[in-house]
Amino acid sequence: MHRRTLLAAAALLPALRPAAAQPAQPVPVVASFSILADMLREVGGGQVRISTIVGPDRDAHGFSPRPGDLRTLQAGRAAFANGLGFDPWMDRMVRSANFQGPYVQAAQGVATRTMVDTHGHGHGHGHSHGGQRQGGGPRTITDPHAFQDLGLAPVYVRNIAAGLKRAVPAPAHAALDAAAADFLRRCAETNAWVRAELAAIPAERRRVITGHDAFGYFGAAYGVTFLAPQGVSTESEPSAGEVARLIRLIREQNIRAVFMENMTNPRLVEQIARDAGVRVGGTLYADALSVPDGPAPTYLAMFRHNVGQLVAAMRA
Ligand code: ZN
Repeated sequence: MHRRTLLAAAALLPALRPAAAQPAQPVPVVASFSILADMLREVGGGQVRISTIVGPDRDAHGFSPRPGDLRTLQAGRAAFANGLGFDPWMDRMVRSANFQGPYVQAAQGVATRTMVDTHGHGHGHGHSHGGQRQGGGPRTITDPHAFQDLGLAPVYVRNIAAGLKRAVPAPAHAALDAAAADFLRRCAETNAWVRAELAAIPAERRRVITGHDAFGYFGAAYGVTFLAPQGVSTESEPSAGEVARLIRLIREQNIRAVFMENMTNPRLVEQIARDAGVRVGGTLYADALSVPDGPAPTYLAMFRHNVGQLVAAMRA
């Protein structure tokens, strides 16, 4: 008798599960910038409704939130930033809004890269290391662009899933786990594709000029050297000497891959390409995705686009 009751209950479970996995309303969550918003979409699926503070083709460095952004944050039940000094204005917003929900730094736990910021601009983008900063001199900072290495996607996805679980009802957690696993499988596939594409290019051709130092992690992961007139933040201004040095490098090393970025002013790169006598190879998506009908509307599409552009220019 007892056994039959248990069996009957077990038979009901599969039928109950899909209904239980659907919350009544998607949970509102907030992403600081578009790349993170797409990762949230992948993991959160229909469980979340995502608001993005810095949208497609827009520059998150030095962003100044407006009152409407604060209201967007306040309407969310969880907030997500990159961290590592990429979007420090999000920390300030969370504090000034007295935000009560979970606040996730998605890059937390990655093995960070440091770099010397030779431009010594006054703003605190990237975390300073090694004591006090001295005037306009070089300083060592943390490179915040960890999202440009697909090998670090598991760290991002783990942090995002953990944060979402603190905002989304428990019955939906299994769906979050399944979506995260599926997304990570596709990240790994794309990662393998990126490696294979770039490994097919002779090492001495894997040299690229781009607007600012957004591709340090990408370069380290995939064996590409990136040189940029601007430092790790788009707010820095290169000196005439630094620009001249880049132009010399392009000529001496016969660099063919010179790229603009989608979210920064193209003027500087165009001028460098003109002075060095090379053609601009196109646009790389660095710190922001494209609009939905553009060439890089998702995180994985961004890698497909960027690598396609890079490989074409390096082969030329
Ligand atoms: Zn950047």
